[in-house]
Amino acid sequence: MKLLFLGSPGVGKGTYAQVLTDVLNIPHISTGDLLRAETKKGTSLGNELAKIMEKGELVGDDLMLKLIEQRITESDCKKGFILDGFPRNLVQANHLKNLVDITHVLNFKANDEVIIQRLSGRITCKKCSKIFNTASIIPKEEGICDKCGGELFQRKDDQPESIQNRLDVYREKTKPLIDHYTNDGLLVEIVINKNITEIREKLITQIKAYLEGKIDVIEEIK
Ligand code: ADP
Ligand code: ZN
Repeated sequence: MKLLFLGSPGVGKGTYAQVLTDVLNIPHISTGDLLRAETKKGTSLGNELAKIMEKGELVGDDLMLKLIEQRITESDCKKGFILDGFPRNLVQANHLKNLVDITHVLNFKANDEVIIQRLSGRITCKKCSKIFNTASIIPKEEGICDKCGGELFQRKDDQPESIQNRLDVYREKTKPLIDHYTNDGLLVEIVINKNITEIREKLITQIKAYLEGKIDVIEEIK
């Protein structure tokens, strides 16, 4: 099962991917996490990437393609994967076609208010990248990751100056992928405005039913 998750920044796809990676037993590949890991190394490449990401701009296609090719040819990806954050434009999508056959594209949607709330409240674990939210996915102990005890921080690109730019970049560059994958007959739309803690089980049941071919559309999950 080679899944691709699409959707605006802040829509929750990273959070849903973290749930489904365990349930479906396939790796979650987040290009944002891969890039952030590189920035932590403090190499000159890492520093260059950090500048681009803080502004909410896209990292160059050549580098992204190398990164993704390397990752999806690792052995844990043989049984499938969830791709989160790639492709982000048509050039990347066309290259991906030469690398693998994606089986399903899940396009997540939420209202604008929900998206802004998710982005501005998001806090991420420095160590394991688990996502929390000050308003909705509240860690048991403030500032500390429930899973690994790591420190939680707000990403620079989750601050207001970058958020607007990321939403603009999404609209201009990534949104056209919806038509692209609809034309390929691979896309399903999933609307979720509720908190993950409230819909977790429904999300799992609906997505499993869809992937098993038992349903063709997914009604709003609420
Ligand atoms: P979000 O989906 O919430 O915007 P991500 O963690 O997926 O956050 O990505 C963070 C940043 O990493 C993006 O704003 C961009 O700078 C960079 N990035 C991630 N994936 C890609 C990609 N496929 N192509 C170019 N840049 C990317
Ligand atoms: Zn952690």
